Amino acid sequence: MMRAFLVSHWGDDPWSRGSWSLIGRGGTPADRVTLGSAVGVRLRIAGEATHPERAGMAHGAYEKGREAGLWAADLGHRRVAVVGAGMAGLAAARQLTRLGVHTEVFEARDRLGGRTAGQDLDGFRFDLGANWLQQYAGNALARIAERLGLRTVPTDFADPMVLRGAPAPAGLDVDAQRRLAAAPADASIADVVDAWLREPAPWTPADIQRFADAEIIMDSGAPLSWLSARHGFEPGVGAGDRWIAGSYRLLVDHLARGLTVHLSSPVSHVSAGPDGVLVGGTRFDAAIVTVPVGVLKAGTLAFVPPLPQGHRDALSRLGMGRVEKVVLRFDEHFWPVSRSGYYRIHGPGAGDICEWLDASGADGVPTLVGLFAGPWLASLWNGTDADIAQRAAGIVRDAVA
Ligand SMILES: Cc1cc2nc3c(=O)[nH]c(=O)nc-3n(C[C@H](O)[C@H](O)[C@H](O)COP(=O)(O)OP(=O)(O)OC[C@H]3O[C@@H](n4cnc5c(N)ncnc54)[C@H](O)[C@@H]3O)c2cc1C
Repeated sequence: MMRAFLVSHWGDDPWSRGSWSLIGRGGTPADRVTLGSAVGVRLRIAGEATHPERAGMAHGAYEKGREAGLWAADLGHRRVAVVGAGMAGLAAARQLTRLGVHTEVFEARDRLGGRTAGQDLDGFRFDLGANWLQQYAGNALARIAERLGLRTVPTDFADPMVLRGAPAPAGLDVDAQRRLAAAPADASIADVVDAWLREPAPWTPADIQRFADAEIIMDSGAPLSWLSARHGFEPGVGAGDRWIAGSYRLLVDHLARGLTVHLSSPVSHVSAGPDGVLVGGTRFDAAIVTVPVGVLKAGTLAFVPPLPQGHRDALSRLGMGRVEKVVLRFDEHFWPVSRSGYYRIHGPGAGDICEWLDASGADGVPTLVGLFAGPWLASLWNGTDADIAQRAAGIVRDAVA
């Protein structure tokens, strides 16, 4: 019996409009740098999308937020507005506040943390967004987690238990990376995969398809025909990643301590002039905007004057994919034990993929955290959250039957 569940809706959430930023065909990591470069001396965009090496990850957002905070303080600004209270916004505000700069954070949602989203469920707390400290050795948030004494659990992503489908043969990933890197600058990942499927040897077409589903679609949640071949498959999940038992909220609450944050305060205009920047009807010396690429592209936050052409061009080559998450709590542990704590289920259709973390170690209650991507999201993520949770649980039950 399922006793409790959480279901994410990142794809249609107006404050994210997707899961994390990605580079589309024709784009490069330089577009991330351009988007994050200062607009004059009063405006700067920060957030995960602006990090050329750590995009799509919470610690990348944190690093870029800190950098933007330092930038504003170094320019001598005394009153700074920060738009968004995710990792980037909190890091910027914390940096500024520490340096004695009056800082106010404007957050659209009624909670902190943005795409980290720790929520209470059935006596414990789980993340509907970020849960892993990725690139652990060089992860600034991991160092804070260690200082705070948070309990973190390693996951070996290289060793998932495949419940339906088959593991990718050794060496196929290296071949894939080589082919993607050698593709023309404006090619998409679909162009490379299609050519590869026409001459698959020494692999089988099914091996290649499963690799694309598990490694690229699961990692991006975007159509392969949109993703840049050379840059659409960026570094992220890897060896040594650890998930935080008790959720990212433990980090978020720590980082937000002492900050002035206006919750439920969506910003619709950021107007920069020679005398300052107007945000939420108040004048500041400068503004740091940390909203996701999906929100920037939707145009629901207007910049007056508009962002420079270079920034807009860079934004046009970036986008967001859709990866959704469920947390399911059960009365019984009905699935097999995986050495790595991780599971993968392929199909039913090409591009349909889900991966699961056994999070029962969090508090002893049988718990699965599932990540879903691919074309089937359109049919799976329908109806009530209870419907979605039951459908997700059914996929695991079928795969282990
Ligand atoms: C399902 C999922 C799983 C993930 N897993 C991991 C993981 O395991 N490890 C990892 O490192 N990363 C993971 N990520 C990515 C990570 O969550 C993000 O990269 C990171 O949290 C982004 O931080 P940010 O500050 O750039 O943006 P956000 O966290 O999105 O913060 C932006 C803030 O701006 C607010 N906002 C938006 N529009 C407005 C407006 N108009 N006015 C005011 N406020 C506004 C939003 O509400 C939000 O709070 C995951 C993401 C998802 C969706």
